[in-house]
Amino acid sequence: MRYASIPFNHNQSGWPAGEHSFSPQPALQSDITADWVIVGAGFAGVAFARRLAEINPKLKIIIVEAHSTQQSASARNSGFVIGLPHNIGSSTAELKKANAYRNLLQEGIRQLEQVISRHHLQCDWERVGKYHCQAEPGNDALLKEYASHLDLMNEPWQMSDSEELYQKLGTRFYSKGIYTPGCVLVNPAQLIAGLNACLPENVQRFDNTPVLGIRYGSMAEVLTPFGVIKTPKVMLATNALSPELRPGLSRQAAMATFASITDPLTDEQLATLPPMQSWGLTPVNAIAGATFRFTSDRRFLIRQHVIPALRGQVNAARTYEATQLHEHLFKKVYPTLSNVKITHTWSGTISVTRNGAPEWGMLNKFLCTAGGCNGAGISKQTVAGTLLADFMMKQDNPHIADMLSLGKANVMPPSPALDIGIALSLMKERYLGRKEI
Ligand SMILES: Cc1cc2nc3c(=O)[nH]c(=O)nc-3n(C[C@H](O)[C@H](O)[C@H](O)COP(=O)(O)OP(=O)(O)OC[C@H]3O[C@@H](n4cnc5c(N)ncnc54)[C@H](O)[C@@H]3O)c2cc1C
Repeated sequence: MRYASIPFNHNQSGWPAGEHSFSPQPALQSDITADWVIVGAGFAGVAFARRLAEINPKLKIIIVEAHSTQQSASARNSGFVIGLPHNIGSSTAELKKANAYRNLLQEGIRQLEQVISRHHLQCDWERVGKYHCQAEPGNDALLKEYASHLDLMNEPWQMSDSEELYQKLGTRFYSKGIYTPGCVLVNPAQLIAGLNACLPENVQRFDNTPVLGIRYGSMAEVLTPFGVIKTPKVMLATNALSPELRPGLSRQAAMATFASITDPLTDEQLATLPPMQSWGLTPVNAIAGATFRFTSDRRFLIRQHVIPALRGQVNAARTYEATQLHEHLFKKVYPTLSNVKITHTWSGTISVTRNGAPEWGMLNKFLCTAGGCNGAGISKQTVAGTLLADFMMKQDNPHIADMLSLGKANVMPPSPALDIGIALSLMKERYLGRKEI
């Protein structure tokens, strides 16, 4: 039997911990049985568990997590809770899909808001929208196209020039940007810790319990180092690492991306900038460009650099490369803040599918999955998890049709063709986006 590789990031996230800060659960130490086993405690796994437990409070539901909620990409991301698709497209079919996708993202935000308010979760949830910006002056074809797609979807937006952006963001690095109000900013580490802390009573989580493989007979047997779980049903909430555990041909590839956070600005440093509230900025080129945030506790967050990480591993050397890239970029964007220090750089795995469609639904009679985040997963993986529970438990939910309309992820070629394909597509994106950093 080939055993699964689990995600391993040789670095520590710098998101400030909150009141629900990580409380590790014991690892599984014996053989047990369960009605459902969920592999992975990120947004998809906890949303699935919560909904399943709501539908049937008598089910014995087990979550097994290789590390802890605080090590998942769900805790390590940039905290943009996206309410609108990035790439919309203008054909009738593309527009229909974009509308379905928007419905799903907004439903994901609604569900998160409901849990946050019901359980009074503290996670810096701020409905402040976001700026979608380009650095290169002159060529604003991409922004114009984005604006026309927003119009087609009847979404409000506002264009700002470099000077207006300076007043909002404190930098003249960007030549233009489009503001849209439908995005929430959050501290993702606090959010996912809080979501895990308020799961229903019939959900039990085991941390530091990697699933090494799944054997099939009359039941599924979920193999972990010190215990086997016998169950009729398994949900894979492992996103990028799902090819390690799913049977058959892979439909997702694991990539890693990096984020850094600075010290909070001092009063003197803050005084050199226009008065600013928290804000978030996404780049026109998501692969080459940088995501930036200014947080409510006066820190800058930079997310940039995407590398292949097919088995989920990122070492310290790759992390250090990212720190250097982020330092260079921060000095370029905020030249007057050269004394502001980056305190942490970290990575996390994201899943990429060939055609941008999710991998969602049943994989065999024991196994189902909600994966294929394609780089954005707070709202998307939340709603994908909830809907999968409804789908598996045969509950009516009109959003299931939205989910199905996104299509099915295409099969990935095996290595080494996959590795070559990823390297070429990253090279292309970095070349196209070279003027954005
Ligand atoms: C730096 C960075 C910035 C990002 N920024 C944003 C953003 O601003 N907005 C946004 O929406 N998205 C963002 N993303 C993407 C987002 O984090 C992911 O889409 C989201 O976390 C996916 O959630 P998930 O629950 O599907 O998977 P994950 O969060 O990856 O959770 C999967 C879990 O499965 C566990 N696991 C894997 N294999 C095994 C195994 N064999 N046994 C047991 N457990 C296993 C993992 O340890 C992990 O905890 C970003 C990602 C990164 C890395």
